[in-house]
Amino acid sequence: MTSAIISCSVCLLELEEHMVALCNACGQAYHLNQRNDRPGTDCGEVWVNEEHLALEFACNTCLHPPVEETLSAVLDTAEAAALAGLSEAALQAAADAGLVRSRRTSSGIYLFERGDVIAFARGRP
Ligand SMILES: [Zn+2]
Ligand SMILES: [Zn+2]
Repeated sequence: MTSAIISCSVCLLELEEHMVALCNACGQAYHLNQRNDRPGTDCGEVWVNEEHLALEFACNTCLHPPVEETLSAVLDTAEAAALAGLSEAALQAAADAGLVRSRRTSSGIYLFERGDVIAFARGRP
């Protein structure tokens, strides 16, 4: 019996002994239910590496890394306005004036690229 409480690196909740797995990528502990007779949620996966016939462990943090740079490169008006520190109306006015690059969808929604908004916000007096 160990009294040390380990917490899951993914969900930050306490790990019970039958739930502990160590991620091969980051070395942190995460939830992996290794007992079919007990309920539990998994915060990662385990699979057999066919080349080495060894078990491989990976936590959800490593399996699904944040995709900040790629997925959220395109911002809608609310996100872009928050990033630029402007109201949505002011940002749309700037876009209409060509001060910041934007794209208008057929439904009239303004879309901005993160880099353009940052450059615009920096260049603003
Ligand atoms: Zn967890
Ligand atoms: Zn990991």
